[in-house]
Amino acid sequence: MELIDLRSDTVTQPTKDMRNAMYQAEVGDDVYEEDPTILKLEKLAADIIGKEAALFVPSGTQGNQVAILTHCKQGEEVILEEHSHIFSYEGATMSAFAGVQPHTIRGERGVMDPEDVRASIRDVDIHFPETGLICLENTHNRAGGSVIPIDNMRHIYTIAQNENVPVHLDGARIFNASIASGIDVKTFAKYTDSIQFCLSKGLGAPVGSIIASTYEFIERARKWRKRLGGGMRQAGIIAAPGIVALETMIDRLEEDHAHANLLAKELQNIKRLSVENEVETNIVLLNTKELDLTANEFLQMLKQHNVLATSFGPFTVRFVTHYGVSREDIISTVKIIHDILHFQV
Ligand SMILES: *Cc1c(COP(=O)(O)O)cnc(C)c1O
Repeated sequence: MELIDLRSDTVTQPTKDMRNAMYQAEVGDDVYEEDPTILKLEKLAADIIGKEAALFVPSGTQGNQVAILTHCKQGEEVILEEHSHIFSYEGATMSAFAGVQPHTIRGERGVMDPEDVRASIRDVDIHFPETGLICLENTHNRAGGSVIPIDNMRHIYTIAQNENVPVHLDGARIFNASIASGIDVKTFAKYTDSIQFCLSKGLGAPVGSIIASTYEFIERARKWRKRLGGGMRQAGIIAAPGIVALETMIDRLEEDHAHANLLAKELQNIKRLSVENEVETNIVLLNTKELDLTANEFLQMLKQHNVLATSFGPFTVRFVTHYGVSREDIISTVKIIHDILHFQV
C-alpha cells in the first residue's frame, strides 16, 4: 500500500517540469551575480510580491535570520507572536547570531492585537532595549495555517511606521494566505518592509526561499547571506525549479485547501475526535484527547496503516495537505482512521 504523507508540505517531490528546468538551467557564479537563472528567479519573485528586489536563500530559516540581521543591531528587541515559527522553531538564532532578544506577544489564532504591539514598543530609557523589528507570520503555522487578516497587518504596519520600527513578514506560506483570502500577495507585502516566502513548501520546489524588500535592503541582506555561508555558486540549478514553482504552482494551492477542508469535515464526524482549528488553508489540527490516546500513540497507529502526520502537542496531531496528496488519499485516510478507532473500542 502506498504511503500517504501528511507530515508537511515540505515533503513534496519536484515535478517533471522542475526536473527538466534544472537540467536545462543556464548557470554562472551567483556570488559574482552572474547566474542568469538566479537573476531571473529573483526578478520574477520581486515582481510577483511587489517589492523592488529579491534574494534567493537556501531556506526559510536563513531568510528570516538574514532579514533580522539586516534590520537589527545587537542589543535590540524583536516583537513577535509567542507561537511564531521564528520564536519556536529556529533554534534561538536571533539571539545566537543577531544578538537581539525576542519580546513575545500572545496572539489569537496567531493574530496579535495591534494595541498589544503598540504597548510593547519600548520608550526611550537608559534601562530598556530598543525595539528593532516587528515580525508577523502569515499564514500562521502553529495556529493551524490561519490567515492573518489584511486589516490587522495594515493596522500594525501603521503603528510601526509611526514609531519608526520596521516590519518583517515570515510569509513562508503567504501564497496560501492569498489563495484562501482572495487578496493579492502584493497587498499583504505592502504592509511590510521585508518578506520571506518559501518555494519549497506548497509550491513544491526542492530547495529555497526568497527575501524581498528594497534594493538597498537586499544589497545589505546579500552580505549577511554571504557571512552565514549562503553565497552559492552555480545555484541556477536549484533556482530553476523555483521559477517553475512561481509560474505554475500557485493557483493549485486551492486544491490543497479543499482537501484539508474535506479531511477536517470528515474527521469532525468521527466520535470523540475534534478538529482544533478553523481550517482556512492546508493545515488540520486534530485533537486526540477524548480517545485517551496521546498524539504519538495515535501517530503510531496511523503509521502502521501507511499514513504519516506529525505531533503538534501532547494531544494534537497535525495534517498538512500538498500536491502529493490526492482527494482519494484523503478519503483513504479518513477510512483508515475510522477503522482504527472502530477496532480500538
Ligand atoms: C517552514 C517555515 C519556515 C522555515 O522554512 P525552512 O525552509 O524549513 O527553513 C519559516 N516560517 C514558517 C512559518 C514555516 O512554516
